[in-house]
Amino acid sequence: MEQRVAADPKDGSTPDAAGADARRRIPRTDAVLRDPRLLEAAGRLGTGRVKSAVHRAQQRAREGAVPPEAVADTAVALLPRSPVGLRPVINATGVLLHTNLGRAPLSAAARQAVRDAAGPTDVELDLGTGVRARRGRTALAALRAAVPAAPAVHLVNNGAAALVLAATALAAGREIVVGRGELVEIGDGFRLPDLLVSTGARLREVGTTNRTTVADYAEAVGPRTAFVLKVHPSNFRITGFTHAADVAELTDLGVPVVVDIGSGLLARHPLLPEEPDAHTQLTAGAALVTASGDKLLGGPQCGLLLGREDLIGALSRHPLARALRVDKLTLAALEATLTGPATPTDEALAADPAELTRRAERLAALLRADGADVRAVASEATVGGGGAPGVTLPSAALSLPERYATALRTGPVPVVGRLEAGRCLLDLRAVPEPDDAHLAEAVRSVEGRWAT
Ligand SMILES: *Cc1c(COP(=O)(O)O)cnc(C)c1O
Repeated sequence: MEQRVAADPKDGSTPDAAGADARRRIPRTDAVLRDPRLLEAAGRLGTGRVKSAVHRAQQRAREGAVPPEAVADTAVALLPRSPVGLRPVINATGVLLHTNLGRAPLSAAARQAVRDAAGPTDVELDLGTGVRARRGRTALAALRAAVPAAPAVHLVNNGAAALVLAATALAAGREIVVGRGELVEIGDGFRLPDLLVSTGARLREVGTTNRTTVADYAEAVGPRTAFVLKVHPSNFRITGFTHAADVAELTDLGVPVVVDIGSGLLARHPLLPEEPDAHTQLTAGAALVTASGDKLLGGPQCGLLLGREDLIGALSRHPLARALRVDKLTLAALEATLTGPATPTDEALAADPAELTRRAERLAALLRADGADVRAVASEATVGGGGAPGVTLPSAALSLPERYATALRTGPVPVVGRLEAGRCLLDLRAVPEPDDAHLAEAVRSVEGRWAT
């Protein structure tokens, strides 16, 4: 400060005058914006973001932090990498359907379908006749075809919305009979009983936490009952002295049985024998099945409703259905999931543990050659995301020092692993094989950053 006051402003050799000269050489915004890299970025990120990067670069030059000639380069370096904050990550947690990572990854076919549907589409128009048509009819037909036991189907935004629509349309002002052991919290503080009560339905809880019998339901069902609800406890397991009535035992009570299966398995899965599926529940007599689209079905976030024609009709005509309807991108992704090749979730479930071990050993050898403290280890993956609680899937992982966890998560290609016994494990079961190269690159880039 002392120095500034003492300096002679006319003396070109003083720091201040040099600064003033540099400031005069700072290029104007419109000149910087003509840089081809920034022109290209404006098309990708929007002019606002590019201008803001240029302004920040000019400010740095004014502060003397960068030379005036470097304003364009600095602006390019300050550009965000994408117009959205969501970052693609590699899921090396060993949790196949990780809610914090967006649950099911879409198949290549579903991704392509989303791109194709992004522009104008015939989502509600019959191109042959030029007349308005049923919204999402081909996606609905694909769902019907995938579950022949369902006479009718309807789609909403997620599994919770499916339950809300069923409760509102069928049970507002009436009672839903539900087993005490099935009043679950689905995560992040959301509790199914609160959700159901918010629709104006009353809950009639029967049985106890661990045991509920057909007689419990039969005693509670009466003229005020709208339906019996069965909810799959999809994120926990009660073991020991337990009993839950099956759907088949509840179909003679004179009211519809609605089953929330949660995970969206449409048919029995050989690796998940205890996980309920839509086909089995419907053939056992369920009047309505609700499920999520982005769990074991491996599709986009949506809610499936499958069942009796009269009930689906009542739901789809209810005013609330309009507020819960899915968009064309979801319809496209769901149809491609239902009709297309195996989903990444299917592949992760079916992955051969010996093959996972081979991949882990190959990667570990590669990275060890670069000097990393890494080894291949056996690991246990889980389904997660509200499916197959208690099931573990044998897997293989790269084991790295714990400090890698944060560095990998915050790297250019974020990798999310898990911590176990003081090591950072990168479990390969949910990592598609083509991503092995990216995984290796991510570990190398961490070492590169530590080395400098
Ligand atoms: C996941 C789940 C839900 C909620 O579904 P969302 O698609 O997350 O809204 C409801 N019930 C069960 C049994 C679930 O597993």
